[in-house]
Amino acid sequence: MISFENSQYIKDQQKYTETVALEHIRPVARYFDDHEHEEPWDFINFIWNEGRKTLKNLAPGEETFEEPFMLQMHINEMIGWGDMGFYMCLPYPSLGGTAITSNGNEAQKNRLIERFRSDKVTWTAMALTESHCGSDAGAIRARAVQDGDSWVLNGEKLFVTNARKSLIDSDGFLVVWATTDPSAGYKAIKPFLVEKDAPGVKISKLEDKLGLRSSDTAVVLLEDCRVPFENLLGGVDGPGFKGAMKTFDEARPVIAACGCGIARATLDLLKEKLAEEGIKIRYGLPRNLMTSLERDIVDMDAQLNAAWLLVIKAASLVDQKKPNTLESSMSKAKTGDIVTRITQKGVELLGALGYSKKTLLEKWMRDGRIIDIFEGTGEINRLVIARLILGYSGKDLR
Ligand SMILES: Cc1cc2nc3c(=O)[nH]c(=O)nc-3n(C[C@H](O)[C@H](O)[C@H](O)COP(=O)(O)OP(=O)(O)OC[C@H]3O[C@@H](n4cnc5c(N)ncnc54)[C@H](O)[C@@H]3O)c2cc1C
Repeated sequence: MISFENSQYIKDQQKYTETVALEHIRPVARYFDDHEHEEPWDFINFIWNEGRKTLKNLAPGEETFEEPFMLQMHINEMIGWGDMGFYMCLPYPSLGGTAITSNGNEAQKNRLIERFRSDKVTWTAMALTESHCGSDAGAIRARAVQDGDSWVLNGEKLFVTNARKSLIDSDGFLVVWATTDPSAGYKAIKPFLVEKDAPGVKISKLEDKLGLRSSDTAVVLLEDCRVPFENLLGGVDGPGFKGAMKTFDEARPVIAACGCGIARATLDLLKEKLAEEGIKIRYGLPRNLMTSLERDIVDMDAQLNAAWLLVIKAASLVDQKKPNTLESSMSKAKTGDIVTRITQKGVELLGALGYSKKTLLEKWMRDGRIIDIFEGTGEINRLVIARLILGYSGKDLR
């Protein structure tokens, strides 16, 4: 029988994460939204030195739970509930690490684990997007040319989350996707590990953003950037571009879980403000007897639950080592949709209070908008879903 009851271990980890959110995130969330490009070092150091002792999932190789990915979804949801920008600042493998574990060989995966076991706070980042290609990732122009026992990388990568943290604040990794042969299409697109001291890599700009303003998003320039031959992830016969898609299969539920956290934070705040006005939601009442406000809240609760169920289905497949492309895209497309609608409705229902900076709601509305943009926009995820359900190839349906 399917059980949706969480184990005691997940409940304990959720409780701890909630305390972290309440004590280390919420009190400073507004400050870091107002001071983009300042980094929340107190939170980062707390997680690296203390938080990881309890949240062992954040340190690769230390996972103690039999369903680590499912556990991670609950942690992400709770940190997203605290503040999604802070989730993006977490010193743990995140998107770059997923690229390494999805594409790398054992030696490369061990390098990642060792780095995260060192004393120095560490991040990873992944650079796919370029000025002319975001959704159409197969059109990458960044070049990788073999020269003796090195690869030489040239190109410009945009909107790279945690590039500053990986290359300046820590001895982290940047996974750069580049083509070894522009005439060969997808087949020639490969992932390369670029380290902090690699010659020819530099951050040329930090973006100013609508939301997630506590998180750094940078432009990365690669000018004759030389990396050792063994920094090609998975080697010459590695999964290549298919590996990028595999990375997204794991990364999309991660982002969707954070989005569910933002939506739940909104609903919690709405219910709290309504309760302060003496308004209680009468769950279970026939719909025709509910007030319009009650119907709005109940609909939002239902939409959030639907999104969350898709997230945990996609996550459960990862833990079972089964394909989850369809469920992963569904979780991301659904959450992108509901978090946008719920945060906007929240601002609407609270009126001027929602629009003001007296609460974090207007910020959550800005933060939540990203769920439908990065790691595959809503439209791209719907294309993936349609292809898989209808049996079309990428060429047939684009
Ligand atoms: C805060 C932030 C962080 C990011 N972090 C990273 C990162 O760490 N690494 C990284 O590589 N990138 C990152 N990105 C980039 C992000 O992944 C891209 O912005 C995203 O993939 C969309 O690409 P684009 O912006 O070029 O939009 P486009 O691809 O140009 O899309 C524009 C619009 O057209 C729609 N569209 C495009 N193609 C189709 C189609 N075939 N059918 C229907 N509609 C379509 C899209 O859905 C969208 O609405 C980040 C972006 C942001 C804003």
